Amino acid sequence: MHTSEKCDITVIGAGLLGCFVARSLREYNLSVRVLEAREDVCTGISKANTAIVYTGIDNKPGSLKSELCVRANEGFDSLCTDLGVPFSRCGSLMAVFGPKGEKALIKKYNQGVENGVRGIKLLSAEETHSMEPGLSSEVTASLFVPGTGTVNPWLLCIAAYENASDNGAEFLFNNRVIQMERVNGGFRLVTEDNEFFSRAVVNCAGLFADTVRELTEKPLVRIFRTGADYFVLDKKAEGGVSHIIFHEPEIGKKGLTLVPTTEGNILVGPSDRAASEYPDEADVNGLVQLEKQCKEVVPKLEINKKIRCFAGSRPNTVLVKPEGRRYIKTDNKIPDFSIFEEAGLFSLIGIKTPGLTCAHELSRYLSAHIADYLCCSEINPEFNPVRKPIIKTSELTLEEWKKLVQCNKAYGQIICTCGKITEGEIVGAIRRGAATVNGVKRRVGSGMGCCQGSRCTQRIAEIIARELSIEVNEVTMDGRNSYIMRGGVSCEV
Ligand SMILES: Cc1cc2nc3c(=O)[nH]c(=O)nc-3n(C[C@H](O)[C@H](O)[C@H](O)COP(=O)(O)OP(=O)(O)OC[C@H]3O[C@@H](n4cnc5c(N)ncnc54)[C@H](O)[C@@H]3O)c2cc1C
Repeated sequence: MHTSEKCDITVIGAGLLGCFVARSLREYNLSVRVLEAREDVCTGISKANTAIVYTGIDNKPGSLKSELCVRANEGFDSLCTDLGVPFSRCGSLMAVFGPKGEKALIKKYNQGVENGVRGIKLLSAEETHSMEPGLSSEVTASLFVPGTGTVNPWLLCIAAYENASDNGAEFLFNNRVIQMERVNGGFRLVTEDNEFFSRAVVNCAGLFADTVRELTEKPLVRIFRTGADYFVLDKKAEGGVSHIIFHEPEIGKKGLTLVPTTEGNILVGPSDRAASEYPDEADVNGLVQLEKQCKEVVPKLEINKKIRCFAGSRPNTVLVKPEGRRYIKTDNKIPDFSIFEEAGLFSLIGIKTPGLTCAHELSRYLSAHIADYLCCSEINPEFNPVRKPIIKTSELTLEEWKKLVQCNKAYGQIICTCGKITEGEIVGAIRRGAATVNGVKRRVGSGMGCCQGSRCTQRIAEIIARELSIEVNEVTMDGRNSYIMRGGVSCEV
């Protein structure tokens, strides 16, 4: 077993929260190490969500969620500029179909005003249809929230990771924490092959944050998953929307959400259903429910132009209490962001919506607290919040592209024909940490067009194999056992 040098803080998990926490901690003079179970960042909850940057109208006034969400939303343009991530402040309409929905609109409106959210407006049916002609003629009113936006959660997470890493945070992948104990002056953490020591630990283990906490603490809170299905429409699908649409149904609890993504597709979802054995796979009943709602809310939307469906998992939290040898659920849910602080162990458990919106602000809030706990609030004068994004050849002028190809021929070789993504960009993604075909996709958008990777997956796998000096049949789609070509490659490419 290899023992690493002691650091100030170990962060467990490299999803949105782990990456942003590591980045914020480096704003102080603190040494930071991130241990991630998987081969890359952004493989958990952060990879499958609704991608919305909320304003705070949904959160209870006076809560930590509302405070952080309002602040996060206001600062999102500047955060994305620093990190080189596209952000679209397209605004949202919450559309309703009758008196129950209208009552909910007024409640949200008042809550938004109390939380200080700017520019929100209640709209009549006519005003709503003039802004979104594709909405059903049965919509009776809506709430317009100009500050709502959308961001690609993969790029945001990857950008936070790269910037944290550039600022000196050490990321170690394929290091699942399986044991943790309190030792003099901090913690000892054990992964399969390594042991680590640190003064404090931040547990950002997403769906497993309860299990990680229980490596040293008594059970107090447990995560119970539910599933969420989504589908994505081709950019060519007609009848789309230009605002994010939330729908408050008259019957039933869960409405539909439609998001015009920063890439130009429409994202539809999420459903709400019991967790399944295969958490990454969409459930057919969930998808049927979404389609039915689409027909009611945006009747002319071409939902037959689906190019992808996927699923996410919600980490719902419930407080538990001992009963005999077991721990059982109590009726107490946790309404706000829950940060458990236990003598140097800081656990973020069950951070659901608006966790993507608030990842940066929540991390700053927590990091200030941790710096205080470690008596080291000294600011790191070398911290640089700016990250250089990956070159996107499709955004260059012909002249700029030509120049680039003169310097590096790989930028002249198109691999993903749908997205016009070149070998140079794919190599860039791998050099920045992509280890799988989906790791490349999350960085440069390959395989996201209408062919969904059927033309480029094999080529990308070969480039990964070449760059990482491994055999092509060792390359996976998305880590673990998702081998693409086990048994050898059968055709020339
Ligand atoms: C369905 C859904 C929709 C959502 N939509 C939105 C939205 O539109 N807007 C918004 O603001 N928020 C949204 N959210 C919330 C947001 O997505 C989450 O708050 C955020 O992604 C949580 O990130 P995380 O870092 O906590 O978890 P994760 O991304 O799951 O990261 C946890 C990491 O910990 C690693 N790990 C686990 N155990 C260990 C271990 N023992 N050792 C080492 N590593 C470990 C995992 O491999 C993983 O990489 C949504 C959430 C869900 C579920």
